[in-house]
Amino acid sequence: MNVNNYPKVSLGFFPTPIEELSNLSKYLGGPKISIKRDDQTGLAMGGNKTRKLEYILADAIAKGADTIITSGASQSNHCRQTAAAAAKCQLECHLLLGGEEPDHCRGNLLLDKLFDCHTHWAGAHRKGEDIESLIAQLIAVGKNPYVVPYGGSNELGTIAFGEAMKELQQQNVNSAEYSHIVFASSSGGTHAGLILGKVITAMNSQIVGISIDKEGINQRNLNEQILMLANNAAGMLSVESKFIERDVILNADYSGGGYGVVGELENEAISMLAKQEGIILDPVYTGRAMGGLIDMIRCNKITSSDNVLFWHTGGTPALFA
Ligand SMILES: *Cc1c(COP(=O)(O)O)cnc(C)c1O
Repeated sequence: MNVNNYPKVSLGFFPTPIEELSNLSKYLGGPKISIKRDDQTGLAMGGNKTRKLEYILADAIAKGADTIITSGASQSNHCRQTAAAAAKCQLECHLLLGGEEPDHCRGNLLLDKLFDCHTHWAGAHRKGEDIESLIAQLIAVGKNPYVVPYGGSNELGTIAFGEAMKELQQQNVNSAEYSHIVFASSSGGTHAGLILGKVITAMNSQIVGISIDKEGINQRNLNEQILMLANNAAGMLSVESKFIERDVILNADYSGGGYGVVGELENEAISMLAKQEGIILDPVYTGRAMGGLIDMIRCNKITSSDNVLFWHTGGTPALFA
């Protein structure tokens, strides 16, 4: 089955740009480094969830939904992009957010409010544990709700990132192939899509996810989640490929103090990119993933003869939280 069998709504500007980080390469005495700017997808300050939501909201609309539900941390980039996408598609949106309602709305949460979505506070549950009761409440008042999975990481979100690899290949036709593609991995859809897209495009790049989250979806589970999504999405596209454990490179060396805990690694990476390139990274995802890349360069796991692509997955508003 062809990817065109899965409809999508247009929510962003694609292809996202690629630029070379020559100051950073020079500063680190390292490899050629390029950056894919998915922080510039155009939807409400951008991010990787825009690609996934193009397919997922099209599915919601096709199923006649009038209300969107999703969940995440209180500063979730996924929730903010979902709220904006729902506004654009004129669907009601409910967010189930971890923690307690703060006195002041900042960063992503300020934007959630601006998009006029309904926020529900779930205490310790930031991964949508309470979603069933919210669905029941909405159905009871006559709504037809559609649940966007945590992080937009289902098969449709995976297909979106398979397509993103085709986009990358087209942008890079006249240049040397990337040796490594490095990015922040958390709920697995981006990672699964990139390994699926690698097979679809027959690229040779090593797909290197930097794990962001320590607990909850633990390492073993995230590996399994990525494999399951990649294999299911391959099946949906009739791609004859079976992904196995060694296809998933998930580096857990940098998950530090756990989800969202900003340390030296993240701070150094954020300052370095700002100072050397005028580029903004976020404290939770891209700061950590770039910190990991910088460390791998310093430890010579990635050498100066390599040609690295850092996939910037967004997160800008979290910097203002
Ligand atoms: C969600 C998110 C990621 C992780 O993507 P997954 O597909 O959930 O693994 C990375 N970076 C940012 C900024 C995100 O918001």
